[in-house]
Amino acid sequence: MNSPDLAGIGMTSQRTRERLIERLREQGIDDFAVLEVMRSTPRHLFLDEAMAHRAYEDTALPIGYQQTLSQPYVVARMTSLLLAGGSLERVLEVGSGSGYQTAILAQLVGQVYAVERIKPLLEASRKRLRRLKLRNVRLRHGDGMLGWPEEGPFDGVLCAAAPEQVPEALLAQLAPGGRLVLPVGGGLQHLKVITRDGDDFRSETFDAVRFVPLRPGVQR
Ligand code: SAH
Repeated sequence: MNSPDLAGIGMTSQRTRERLIERLREQGIDDFAVLEVMRSTPRHLFLDEAMAHRAYEDTALPIGYQQTLSQPYVVARMTSLLLAGGSLERVLEVGSGSGYQTAILAQLVGQVYAVERIKPLLEASRKRLRRLKLRNVRLRHGDGMLGWPEEGPFDGVLCAAAPEQVPEALLAQLAPGGRLVLPVGGGLQHLKVITRDGDDFRSETFDAVRFVPLRPGVQR
């Protein structure tokens, strides 16, 4: 990536990015592959120009339509939890928003199937992913609460919006041994990892988090 806007300058420079990676490491992110991919992926390209100078702060940032680009720590944490069971071939992402988490996943798994309910966000993310030449991604405008049944089952599912209860369809589309990582809760939310073992599901609870709600239906 050597065009100047991909490389970044000033507040989006490589040095600023290094500081973010250092911070993630200090906060306990120790998956080397995840850290390397986050180091080399230009988060500023996933934001409007007015927000781009804040891209390497460890904070969630607005992307319009009352949605946010997830905080880097949370992206790193969810990605690490998803990958902790071993390498993944087919991954479903629900609530792909800006496409930043999609870009990170695409560099770490075989194929990403991403569903977003807000059409303009989906179309903007499509352009960014193409620009970064990430071709192992399929994007769909739809209600991710329903998963993507035609493409399942999935080895991993990552959902970036919070339901009050885990959607049945996402469980149903997990392959044997597959893992679902998502925030769950109404007011107070926690990250959960749900692992499929035959017809049983094992649930583990991790960090307290704050995500936008998972909403049914689509928006044009
Ligand atoms: N990972 C994204 C997070 C965006 S915020 C990023 O970093 O940019 C969560 C996203 O989930 C929003 O874009 C919202 O529109 C989307 N979302 C909420 N409910 C959804 C649903 N049922 N299906 C698909 N996307 C949904």
